[in-house]
Amino acid sequence: MAAKKLKEYLHMRRVRHKAKDWIDIDWEGAVIKHPLQKDGSSCGVIVAKMAKEIIQSFPRIPNITFSTTTDSMRAERKTMALELLQGSVFQMDYWCGICASKDPPTSTAATATSARKSDTGWIQCDICDRWFHGECVGMKIDDLKKAEDHDWLCPLCQ
Ligand SMILES: [Zn+2]
Ligand SMILES: [Zn+2]
Repeated sequence: MAAKKLKEYLHMRRVRHKAKDWIDIDWEGAVIKHPLQKDGSSCGVIVAKMAKEIIQSFPRIPNITFSTTTDSMRAERKTMALELLQGSVFQMDYWCGICASKDPPTSTAATATSARKSDTGWIQCDICDRWFHGECVGMKIDDLKKAEDHDWLCPLCQ
């Protein structure tokens, strides 16, 4: 069932995103040895860790061993959080620090692609250098113009 679903997903990926990798693999089921969960809340951490090991050792079937003590799971959560943040697609130089979008908050799809910081009312924090839509920090064009003359601190730095 999982192999069938995966094939469907890869097919959709090829049709919609024209991705060609992973499509010619003859998937089959296997039993993977893995450590057992010792608490009532770490299943997500363990599943994510297993998925990562499977992907990294593909096409070899991994023999997964890691500690599942409370301390290990805590450390694992932190490592994963940092990895996700570091690999995040958020681009501080281009995207609004509040809504995480590079398009103007009220724009239509037609104007969004051509919109630039200079013509959509953006403001940059003088401490953290993040950019913000004026609208996302409650500032009108007049407020933005006034703020140009002196230091401005974003809501995260105030
Ligand atoms: Zn915004
Ligand atoms: Zn700031």
